[in-house]
Amino acid sequence: MAKVGIIRCQQTEDLCGGTADFQFAAKGKGAFEAVGPSEVVGFVSCGGCPGKRAVARAKMLKERGAEVIVTASCMTLGTPLGFPCPHKDMILAAIRRALGESVTVLDYTHPAPKH
Ligand code: SF4
Repeated sequence: MAKVGIIRCQQTEDLCGGTADFQFAAKGKGAFEAVGPSEVVGFVSCGGCPGKRAVARAKMLKERGAEVIVTASCMTLGTPLGFPCPHKDMILAAIRRALGESVTVLDYTHPAPKH
């Protein structure tokens, strides 16, 4: 089972408990099809705009056993508001630059629901 750490948008914490993220991870569905059924070893926010804390948090998740870092759909697809993070590309690039090949980085958790 892959060990994954999920980084979510702090701005949507009041709207979403991350339920779909955990369900998709456990079933190996959505983005997790790339790594199979997964155990979530950590579920943290980006730390708030503009997301600079995400790199340190990704490193922390790796230290706590994450082999895969996943930015949640709230950040990259904008669920549940249809409002993606304006900093998502920089956040993802910074995480990839910091962690290199040592972890797999996935850029969403589950497809955006159809409204
Ligand atoms: S930086 Fe992006 S992901 Fe983080 S709180 Fe702000 S909008 Fe959300």
